Amino acid sequence: MPSTVLSQDDSGIGIKNGINWRGYKNFLGTFSPPFAVINDLDLLKTLPLDIMRDGLAEAFKVAIIKDRAFFDFLSEKAAQLKVGSPEVLHTVVKRCAELHMEHIASSGDPFEMGNSRPLDFGHWSAHRLESMSGYSVRHGQAVAIGIALDTLYACKLGLISSADLALVLDALEAVGLPTYHPLLSVRSANASHLILQGLEDFREHLGGILCVTLPNPLGDKIEVAEIDQNLMIECIDWLSQRAGCPNKVLAYETPL
Ligand SMILES: [Zn+2]
Repeated sequence: MPSTVLSQDDSGIGIKNGINWRGYKNFLGTFSPPFAVINDLDLLKTLPLDIMRDGLAEAFKVAIIKDRAFFDFLSEKAAQLKVGSPEVLHTVVKRCAELHMEHIASSGDPFEMGNSRPLDFGHWSAHRLESMSGYSVRHGQAVAIGIALDTLYACKLGLISSADLALVLDALEAVGLPTYHPLLSVRSANASHLILQGLEDFREHLGGILCVTLPNPLGDKIEVAEIDQNLMIECIDWLSQRAGCPNKVLAYETPL
C-alpha cells in the first residue's frame, strides 16, 4: 500500500523492491511481482505539499516519454496540482499507474535483463545529485532537475522543439518543482563536472552499456548510447543562467 504520491504513481507500481543499506539508497533489492498494489488516495491527504509535489516529477517523467496528451493535462492543471487538488491528483495517479502497468506488461523485459530503462529518464543526474547533496535534495526534486536537463539536451540535439522545451520547464516550475540546483555546476580540481559521474554510475548500473532515454518528440522517446559531455555542460550552464544563479557568465545562444 504505497502512501505517497511518488510511490503511488511510480515506485509502488512495479515489481522491484529495495531497501537502503550502508548509506546507499535501494542498494539491496528483489524483483517480485506483488499480488496486488492498493493505491488509497486518502493516504495522500496528510502529505506535506512539498512531498506531494515530489511525486509529480515522476508523472512528468512518464508523460514526457510516453503520452503527450497526459503531459498537456499536467501542464494545464499545473496550478491545481501545485496545491494538491485531490480530483486532479486522482487522475494523475491513475494514469501513471496505467502507463507503468502497460510498460511492465509490454516492454518484454519486466525483470530488466537488458539495458533499456525508459522509466529512468532524467535519473542519471538525479541519483548523482541526491547523493552529492547528502540526500538533502529529495528524489522528486532531483528527478525534476534531471528531466529539465535531459529535455534541454534533447532540444539541443533537435529531438524536441524549443516551444516544447519551454512547456516542460514552465510546467515543472508551475507545479512547484525545481529545474536547476547549484550542485549541477560543481567541478572537481581537474575542472570536470562532478554531476557527470552520474553517467558512469548509470552505465555501471546497466551492466556496462550506456542507454539514456530522451524525449523524441515530446510524448515519445529515443534511446541513445552516448552523451556528448560538452553539450551536457552547455545545458547545465544554460539552466544555471535561466535560474539566475550567480557566478555563471557564459554567453552562448539559448535554444529558445
Ligand atoms: Zn524515480
